[in-house]
Amino acid sequence: MTSHAHPIFTPQVTLVGAGPGDPELLTLKAVKAIASATVLMVDDLVHPDVLQHASPTARIIHVGKRGGCQSTPQAFIEKLMAQEALAGEKVVRLKGGDPLVFGRGGEEQQHLRAQGIAVEVINGITAGLAAAHDLGIALTHRAHAHGVLMITGHASPNPSTQRMPAIDWSLIARTAHECRLTLVVYMGVQTAAHLQQALLAGLPADTPVAVVENASLPSQRHATSQLDRLSGLFEREQLASPAVIIVGDVLQGLQKLNQADAPHSALQA
Ligand code: SAH
Repeated sequence: MTSHAHPIFTPQVTLVGAGPGDPELLTLKAVKAIASATVLMVDDLVHPDVLQHASPTARIIHVGKRGGCQSTPQAFIEKLMAQEALAGEKVVRLKGGDPLVFGRGGEEQQHLRAQGIAVEVINGITAGLAAAHDLGIALTHRAHAHGVLMITGHASPNPSTQRMPAIDWSLIARTAHECRLTLVVYMGVQTAAHLQQALLAGLPADTPVAVVENASLPSQRHATSQLDRLSGLFEREQLASPAVIIVGDVLQGLQKLNQADAPHSALQA
């Protein structure tokens, strides 16, 4: 008789990037992880069709929180994930875009690992890249940019960022200008007026800007203008979250294109 060693149980959570919206932008790895989950914890920017890949017996928990209104506190989400994983569930945490680009994925990973829970991460396409795709521009077009800076427009102090200095937007603006970096601002809808003011300290007023709302989805809308009209653009076009703001000369071609083709392409300000 052979004796089988009892397999050592390792609790595990998989943080899965659900991409920017379009469910066809899921990776094959994401689809496999979703299919094998017994518990799915889902953010609200995740497209509902993504859940078609889930097992019919999987438990689906929506833990979304939009903008300022926190429907499920982060501490509760982290506790629940750990609890389910320790109870032997195959937990998949579905997060919009890439799980570790903003959206607290880094904190969740740290918190879980600290409790001895293994964390696997599956990349997703982040919103900034989907936005650039929808505009038809290259964020790193070599005639205009040496690189890209992904940055949050919503750096409100909270316990985990207490020791972080506030963003120095005029330094960011000068650096973007002098080093030719494209800015991709996440979570900047609420702070657009402040961003405009602060960035004008280091970037020319006529620096092209674009706002892309609902990137990758049929409801996608975008508008282009220049930096000194950024907040006006939001008001005029009623652009709302989720949206990313792109700032930089890589948008130049797009603006020319829009001028030539205004009626049925991007909204103009
Ligand atoms: N992990 C996500 C980002 C989470 S932070 C990612 O990698 O994309 C949430 C912010 O992402 C929103 O405030 C918005 O700026 C941006 N965002 C998410 N989905 C978006 C979409 N479909 N279109 C435009 N911006 C989006």
